[in-house]
Amino acid sequence: MLNYNLGLDYAKEQDSIDHLSNYRNQFHIPKDKYGKDVIYLCGNSLGLQPKLTKTYINQELEDWKNLGVDGHFEAKNPWLDYNKLLIKNMAHVVGAKPIEVVVMNTLTTNLHLMMVSFYQPTKSRYKILIEKDAFPSDKYAVESQLRHHGYDDKESLILWEPRKNEALNRYEELEAILKNQGHEIALIMIGAINYYTGQYFDLKHITTLAHQYGCKVGFDCAHAAGNVQLNLHDSGVDFAVWCTYKYLNAGPGSLAGCFVHERHAYKKELNRFTGWWSHNKETRFKMRDNFDVIPGAEGWQLSNPPILSMAAIKASLELFNEVGIEKLTEKSKSLTGYFEFLVNKLNNNAIKIITPNNPNERGCQLSIQVKNANKSLHKKLTEASVVCDWREPDVIRCAPTPLYNSFTDVYFMVEKLKKLINE
Ligand SMILES: *Cc1c(COP(=O)(O)O)cnc(C)c1O
Repeated sequence: MLNYNLGLDYAKEQDSIDHLSNYRNQFHIPKDKYGKDVIYLCGNSLGLQPKLTKTYINQELEDWKNLGVDGHFEAKNPWLDYNKLLIKNMAHVVGAKPIEVVVMNTLTTNLHLMMVSFYQPTKSRYKILIEKDAFPSDKYAVESQLRHHGYDDKESLILWEPRKNEALNRYEELEAILKNQGHEIALIMIGAINYYTGQYFDLKHITTLAHQYGCKVGFDCAHAAGNVQLNLHDSGVDFAVWCTYKYLNAGPGSLAGCFVHERHAYKKELNRFTGWWSHNKETRFKMRDNFDVIPGAEGWQLSNPPILSMAAIKASLELFNEVGIEKLTEKSKSLTGYFEFLVNKLNNNAIKIITPNNPNERGCQLSIQVKNANKSLHKKLTEASVVCDWREPDVIRCAPTPLYNSFTDVYFMVEKLKKLINE
């Protein structure tokens, strides 16, 4: 537990000794109606724009303008194998080997592609387990996979629920489910960090447990990539998917990431959906070859990718690579710990943080439950230039991100919350 103090001076002092404070200048911070920086705590929803992004996208626009189709080979960053320019940095961010990672499609699309390969139901093993309160898109995706294979999407979907009157999931419950039904479960699909509570699960523990029962495991890392130090390779998980527009700051609707564990890299026989981009790069343009899949995660690509979106990812990943996910998470723990300290000091019975208080069981987001509040509180925060989000029925989610948020951001956010709650 770190020690914190109250007062604005303390926040300013923390900013002055923060080694990462300069990175804020590398981002465009939206302004409020008075022309001042807003307090942007919504990096868990849409990360802010790095100043470098425009330069990188412009480079591709220029090359397209000047080279046309030849840009595939002659652009400054040849488009043909652009994925290669992202992979090393992306692999580092999620703790993977380069062969395990690819940037393609969008998150939910990748989730389906992964389920084509890793949800292979049989007569006796066909159920899918997800956490209760999974992100809706994930739930809809697994339900539709169940229906696609001819199963009932209620009977065959198992929910890992928190205990009554608790907000967080416990591993004992997961173990109990596996003990009873493990032999019927084909796939466990969990959000690595739950989007609502901010609970960060122990990926290795879940994976090891699930594999003992013969289940495949996938994680949705939408709220984890760029937020916590993932060790996807080490966790042993079969696959993972994540988007790049949240903590990875690559712009609205930008391309997603996908991880397939190395032990599946050379399994040519693995069932999958394919396209010309999953085919051997050497012979791809002969166009008449029999299909020859690329080893590793790249072997799940379908199409030639949108370079403009990749350019934005390239810009963002370079920042992450420069700082290093280790340093980022170190600042993150201290910033979020400070946030938690201030909220707890409000000493208000109406307010409760539902995110775990153990820094190793969360990322930067705190989900603050406000008793008897309604969306008008969120509206008032917005009017006070705090950008955070509201989740029904009564939770404010705030994510101070270490790349562009400051201790003073957090200080003023809590001051404003205090004022509004006491009104
Ligand atoms: C943000 C998010 C998504 C969004 O999916 P898209 O396919 O990118 O629209 C899905 N799952 C989780 C857990 C998320 O947090």
